Amino acid sequence: MHLPEKGLSQDEVFKHLDAFRMRDLEWGAGKAFGYVFDPGKDAVEVGKKAYMMFLSESGLDVTVYPSLLKMENDIIAFASEHLNGGAEASGNFTSGGTESIILAVKAARDYCRHTKPEIKEPEMILPVTGHAAFHKAGHYLGVKIVPVGVDSQFRADMKQVKAAVTKNTIMIVGSAPSYALGVIDPIREMATLAKSKDIWFHSDCCMGGFLLPYFKRLGEKVPDFDFSIPGVNSISMDLHKYAYTPKGASVVLYRNKNLRKFQIFACARWNGYSMINTTIQSTKTGGPLAAAWAVLNYVGDAGYLEFAKKKLDAVRRIVKGIESIPDLQLMVKPDMVLIAFGSKTVNVFHIIDEMSLRGWYIQPALAFATSKENIHLSVNLSNVAHVDQFLKDLADSTEAAKQLPSGQLASQLQGLMATPGALSPENLPNLLAMVGVSKEGMPDRMAGINEVMNMLPVEAREALLTEFASMLFR
Ligand SMILES: *Cc1c(COP(=O)(O)O)cnc(C)c1O
Repeated sequence: MHLPEKGLSQDEVFKHLDAFRMRDLEWGAGKAFGYVFDPGKDAVEVGKKAYMMFLSESGLDVTVYPSLLKMENDIIAFASEHLNGGAEASGNFTSGGTESIILAVKAARDYCRHTKPEIKEPEMILPVTGHAAFHKAGHYLGVKIVPVGVDSQFRADMKQVKAAVTKNTIMIVGSAPSYALGVIDPIREMATLAKSKDIWFHSDCCMGGFLLPYFKRLGEKVPDFDFSIPGVNSISMDLHKYAYTPKGASVVLYRNKNLRKFQIFACARWNGYSMINTTIQSTKTGGPLAAAWAVLNYVGDAGYLEFAKKKLDAVRRIVKGIESIPDLQLMVKPDMVLIAFGSKTVNVFHIIDEMSLRGWYIQPALAFATSKENIHLSVNLSNVAHVDQFLKDLADSTEAAKQLPSGQLASQLQGLMATPGALSPENLPNLLAMVGVSKEGMPDRMAGINEVMNMLPVEAREALLTEFASMLFR
């Protein structure tokens, strides 16, 4: 792009922006089981209006924007109560689950530097089902990830967690629920073990923190996962997921202010303003915070309870529907609204392609650890009205997928990959070209690529993904 000599007219600007969106995933159609969290027209409008109202306010310095401080403290007070934090709990509003997680890991690391300075090579125990954001946090912050396995129902295996504790363990993580398989780890056992060994425990409730208390009120059996368990030191809870606030909204919570202190970064070693950052970003818009405050208060408690009821009902129908298709099997009975299912007889990647041709977005999950490749659904309010059509199309797609050949690309590449240097950095662009990926985009059918990714070891998957990103972005 060159900047136009003379600025474009408003009309022209928006014509361009509109055109850019042509091939984007349609978020308003109710046919996406991921990425989209749509609370319905009115609440979307309220969020947008509040976002725009605070777009130009800067979160860099809340002393000159008391409005932002007020809204953040309101949200943290609500979140603390929602998760049984009592009067002592504290926390901050962040841009998303990843930021909440990075901050919690930083707080745990720095708390440990303070309390156990003898630990030079800190370790975090993370079930294999734990979110990738913990790997990112470990990578950024110099905390080694010690992965532990899960039981047959994909919940953290306590025996392995116990065995993984070393004198360098600074943190144990559990998920409520985990993203990919949708089940809740044995948080009470894990946090109790952590407490007995004086280790920080983090409960990752990015998905479940907001919704699970409502499920409990609806009479669902929800195991304890929050501050009601004495060993839980910190919690991440996203608002831009099941609280349906516009994106850029999450909270990180701590049992008390003493723990939270290790999250805050203050700097006076320069000539400029005294810097106090509670989050990773410094200058930041007030938009997401105001939008979150607005949507939470607009939908209200009864509104969210109603949302939860609708989702619960939809999940039951989807589960029943999947169970009635002989070629499909649930990976595990879901604990909330995240459903994972696979097939012993049909290539799941073909099913995803077939669903995509029918207008649906459903997500592939590659084989990893003890889980084989499967299909992930994050069930959403906007999906509720489309469950019958979804199940009909899923049955049709499964039949259609059965007729398609499988494994051709993967077997073509299998020999090639075995040759030395096949996965060397110089060869990765060729490999991408061979599977049909180019700058212009992805092929219509993704099954071939997914099959290839599925057969690669994780290091090779990561190398290819990095190469792919490097190709996409200028
Ligand atoms: C979504 C999610 C995250 C990461 O959150 P982002 O908002 O995407 O950064 C972390 N943990 C779990 C369980 C999640 O579902």
